[in-house]
Amino acid sequence: MVKVGHISSSTLQSVLIRKLRTAGTLCGCFFFVISLNFIYTRYFSKVPLSNWATNNDELKELFDADITLNYGARTDVTTISSWKAPIMWEGMFDPNVYDRMHIHFGSNVAVTVFAVGRYLDVYLLNFLNSAERYFMVGLPVKYYVFTDTPEKVPKVALGHKRSMKVLKVDRYDRWQDISMMRMQTISEIIESEIRYSFRYVYCFDVDQVFKGRFGSEALGDSVAMIHSQFYRYPKYRYTFDKNPQSKAFMKVGDLYYHAAVFGGSWENVKNLTDTCYENIMVDKIRNVEALWHDESHLNRFFFDNKPTKLLSPEYCWNEIFPDQDIRVPRLVWAPKYYDTLRT
Ligand code: UDP
Ligand code: MN
Repeated sequence: MVKVGHISSSTLQSVLIRKLRTAGTLCGCFFFVISLNFIYTRYFSKVPLSNWATNNDELKELFDADITLNYGARTDVTTISSWKAPIMWEGMFDPNVYDRMHIHFGSNVAVTVFAVGRYLDVYLLNFLNSAERYFMVGLPVKYYVFTDTPEKVPKVALGHKRSMKVLKVDRYDRWQDISMMRMQTISEIIESEIRYSFRYVYCFDVDQVFKGRFGSEALGDSVAMIHSQFYRYPKYRYTFDKNPQSKAFMKVGDLYYHAAVFGGSWENVKNLTDTCYENIMVDKIRNVEALWHDESHLNRFFFDNKPTKLLSPEYCWNEIFPDQDIRVPRLVWAPKYYDTLRT
């Protein structure tokens, strides 16, 4: 028997074997824990998106497809459309993931808002001030304010990387034309300016006020707003244009959209505003007017060109409606004074 010092070789062997076994077990445990962690982060946790993609383009593609949404988070409301576009409700998304990723990809937003005639005095200041508190906070935003009286546009304190441009527009005699002709003006400003500097364009009525986060989760390629007045109604009660002479005519539809909010990539908003404007002009030549003016044309457009993201009524809520589904009112209708405000 060989002796090493005062320890026999067989004792040494068994000590070594025991140590190797322990090391093996530890290694096994280590790899087991690593695999568990991998499986957990890959399939069960709110994964940082970067774990899923091997390069930036792949990451962007996954992110733009809204893969982090939790469609099961709300069982009380519909969270997906029949063509698989997400319907954004509180609880379904992680605001931090959206903000981080949009900052990472350098997203920025052009906002168009019209304040013509008395609408400027009554609504514009509250709209802009509240947007500064709640709309796309942390992202670069430029407001394009269209008005017939630029000198009356109020001064608003704007946040970092946020700016405003005031543009003069004619005041049409009829309020219907003021509303409809926004389509032409928006298309023109996208063509002449927005397309060179902004990825997204969001278009708003001025008679509304932000009251909660209206953040980057609302950004998407082609975004439509589900009308808060109709979202609980059966389809047959939707208020589509029913005149076959109008280009906005719809026999059937899938959702009723509110024209007070729409948006998307500049390319898609350009296509929407061009199409609606052309159809409005065809109607004028035919001497017909769609039931709800630009809104009827917008509904026809989104029926033919399905939006890729839908905003739940949280994003344009009328506070006089029963609000059992609305956990966070984000943008709410301001009181309407049609008698005194409309031309
Ligand atoms: N608008 C305007 N001045 C007018 C009529 C309309 O500036 O005299 C603009 C304004 O941005 C308004 C939008 O067009 O929010 C749509 O009109 P309105 O809000 O009256 O339509 P409704 O929301 O009642 O359908
Ligand atoms: Mn309005």
